[in-house]
Amino acid sequence: MTHRIDLHTHSTASDGTLAPAELVRAAAAAGLDVVAITDHDTTDGWEPALRALPPGLRLVRGAELSCRWDGDQPPVPLHLLAYLFDPAHSELVAELTRVRAARLARGERMVALLRADGIDVDWPQILALAGGGTVGRPHIAQALIRAGLVATTSEAFGPEWLGERYRLPKDDIDVFRAVRLIRAAGGVAVFAHPRASRRGRIVPDELIAELAEAGLVGLEADHEDHSPAERAHVRGLAAELGLLVTGSSDFHGSHKTVQLGAFTTGVEAYERIVAASSGVTAVASG
Ligand code: AMP
Ligand code: FE
Ligand code: FE
Ligand code: ZN
Repeated sequence: MTHRIDLHTHSTASDGTLAPAELVRAAAAAGLDVVAITDHDTTDGWEPALRALPPGLRLVRGAELSCRWDGDQPPVPLHLLAYLFDPAHSELVAELTRVRAARLARGERMVALLRADGIDVDWPQILALAGGGTVGRPHIAQALIRAGLVATTSEAFGPEWLGERYRLPKDDIDVFRAVRLIRAAGGVAVFAHPRASRRGRIVPDELIAELAEAGLVGLEADHEDHSPAERAHVRGLAAELGLLVTGSSDFHGSHKTVQLGAFTTGVEAYERIVAASSGVTAVASG
């Protein structure tokens, strides 16, 4: 039997546009057998997704952690997917809470920069767009679209806007600490889109080797932000380091064009993630 497994999606608990319940319904409608909910720096979508889980769909509870590598100046931002960890692990909870607060402060400062240039966006509107979920640049992008300044989210991420000119760093989690905490919470760490050079700076393979020693379990290879050459490079590196590889949509609803299941993960990699975890279980409804 074939399995359709998508291990990277976002809901309104962060910068996706479908509520967690809508996300799992859409995943079932897209013909997925397994979906992971991986909102940025929060587990708030877990319960509503679980409650709405349609029959035949398995839910992997996860999050995408905003991390930084201090090996370059300024630090390089990177994303770790954390799967099936204990959502009550106090040190991990404290880091996630801190990062979400840092995102709020940073978002408000970015809006102040835009306003200082006469751009008509306001912070309360952006908070409302985020609807209580983790605030990110896609919410500011949405405000720029509504103000008629750009046509699409990708245009808003151009260098003239949120990609560079008005981009501010946020206070992310040290990546080695993040790997340690994910493991301590019984979770499994997978490096999200590790070679996505079109998003900005990327980290060297030597760092990925060090992270593998520290307990990183996998690399996301098939992702829309990787070129075919980048996907092949990630696969080669994973084979060299004994890491599993995943493929996923990184679905964000209408904040991006990619659809659920656009990229998928093999069943062996999925089973390795489940076997290596001890925080919470992957759940099927009924
Ligand atoms: P932030 O976490 O606030 O720095 O914003 C990063 C988020 O913006 C990512 O998680 C993606 O959801 C989104 N993003 C990044 N680059 C792009 C892009 N070029 N086009 C559309 N969305 C993007
Ligand atoms: Fe996002
Ligand atoms: Fe990401
Ligand atoms: Zn993501």
